[in-house]
Amino acid sequence: MNTFAFLEKSARQRPDGLALLHGEERRTYREFHDRALAVGGNLRALGCAPGDRVAFCLANSPRILEVIYGCFAAGLIVVPVNARLHPREMAWIIENAGAKLLVHGAEYDEGIRANAGLFGGLAHRVCTDPVEGALGFEALLDPAHALPCADDAAPEDLCWLFYTSGTTGKPKGAMWNHRMVARVIMNYLADLHNIQPGEMVLHCAPMSHGSGIVALPAVARGATNAIYDSPSFDPESLFATVEQLKVSHVAFMAPTQIIKLLEDFVPGRHDLSSLKAICYGGAPIYVDQLKQAMAAFGPIFVQLYGQGEAPITITGLSAAAHTALLAADDPRIGSAGQVRTDVEAHCVDQNDQPLPPGQPGEVVTRGDVVMPGYWNNPEATAEALRGGWLHTGDIGFFDDQGFLFLLDRAKDMVISGGNNIYPREVEEVLILHPQIAECVVFGIPDDYWGEAVHAVVVARPGSGLTAPDVIAFCGEHLAGYKKPKAVDFVDALPVSGYGKVLRREVRDAYWQGHDGRIGGGSGARSAAKPVATI
Ligand code: AMP
Repeated sequence: MNTFAFLEKSARQRPDGLALLHGEERRTYREFHDRALAVGGNLRALGCAPGDRVAFCLANSPRILEVIYGCFAAGLIVVPVNARLHPREMAWIIENAGAKLLVHGAEYDEGIRANAGLFGGLAHRVCTDPVEGALGFEALLDPAHALPCADDAAPEDLCWLFYTSGTTGKPKGAMWNHRMVARVIMNYLADLHNIQPGEMVLHCAPMSHGSGIVALPAVARGATNAIYDSPSFDPESLFATVEQLKVSHVAFMAPTQIIKLLEDFVPGRHDLSSLKAICYGGAPIYVDQLKQAMAAFGPIFVQLYGQGEAPITITGLSAAAHTALLAADDPRIGSAGQVRTDVEAHCVDQNDQPLPPGQPGEVVTRGDVVMPGYWNNPEATAEALRGGWLHTGDIGFFDDQGFLFLLDRAKDMVISGGNNIYPREVEEVLILHPQIAECVVFGIPDDYWGEAVHAVVVARPGSGLTAPDVIAFCGEHLAGYKKPKAVDFVDALPVSGYGKVLRREVRDAYWQGHDGRIGGGSGARSAAKPVATI
């Protein structure tokens, strides 16, 4: 089944229902369906044949969904590119995917032209606004070339390349096929949030990533995909949007966005009573912050844990589960929930042997939601899918009721004096300190310990917080060997385009000149002193 069928069905059942909403722009399901068929047909007319790759690099707008569904209709493989990448990073993905055509916003035109040599493989560029050297988006809407209907597709036919964020090397293209995407859609509706026809679903995170994936179940159910109309994430305007549009479901938020919402929340200033679900994931949320968010916004949080290789689908914690666990003061509120309905997952040791409950190991998963491999990368595919299970690179443990506690990425674990220390455990404590706004913990080279636990902290303005204060505070909550040996203070932490705190970027500055940790490698223990410690 071609994933386009979900749109076709919604267009038949709710032709006048509002499908896309962005500022003044409004498209019904009939219009969205027809425009997507036009995009598919015009991509074909420009020489894109089934199986060819079409990349887009676009700020959030209805164009993203028109390109995605246009590609589905025409049997093309869509390649979303994070709109915050540097043109050189963008070019690397486009070349790796062998994309024939790129659809981009006018804001990237200068960067693309300045690096023109890197984009030489493209047959065409299509720009949202008229610019020299590119076709306008209107060129994709010519009704003369519109497809009469979508091509048929086999379940194994590829339809999407999802490029990983590349924190441990160059990004890899996780291949998605139609069967996988259909399963991801159904699993979302079954386990996380059962989107209803006409529901107002808001996108306020990049649609090249999680939010765009949640648009798929929203389209399948004939809901409205409303796109947050602001150049940057601003809690006040987001609250106003929720009130004005009566948003019922926020498609996806990174935990860093939830923290921002909390900081600017003034009870009663906006009517947020329409909100039934805020879906979050992609990075850990600290328990204390989650509890504050639930106290402020109510029992509406839905957590998902997945990765590009098993998109938004490995484990989840529904709004009802959040509510029950909070009411029972159950520490499982700090988990990533239970394995999703049609998915298998467990933790394994270094020899890929399953571990009993409570024992940390690598999370592995399998099922139809798992990618068949990485694009043009058989070595990485064999490594990631060895034994028929996707090896996520995440360390965690399942408890006796099957709740998954994620500890860290395997490569982020600190080994100090022979002890394994999970940065998240230390960060969960640091964030309890009223004077700490943000923090990140990692290991740095140490003569004696091999690695020493190190914290980098953003203190609240005017707090006067010192490193000994922070270390003493950790001592009240953690075993001695887990306490940071030193603490640095910074004004802000670097965050990825997808809202994840870039722990490795902070850490790598401390490992310069040591071969063990730069770029996420592991193992080497070095004999250097920590740098820049306060
Ligand atoms: P991406 O492929 O960019 O979506 O990143 C996936 C990675 O984000 C996972 O392998 C985890 O390390 C992390 N992640 C995703 N969801 C969660 C979650 N709910 N809690 C903690 N980490 C998460």
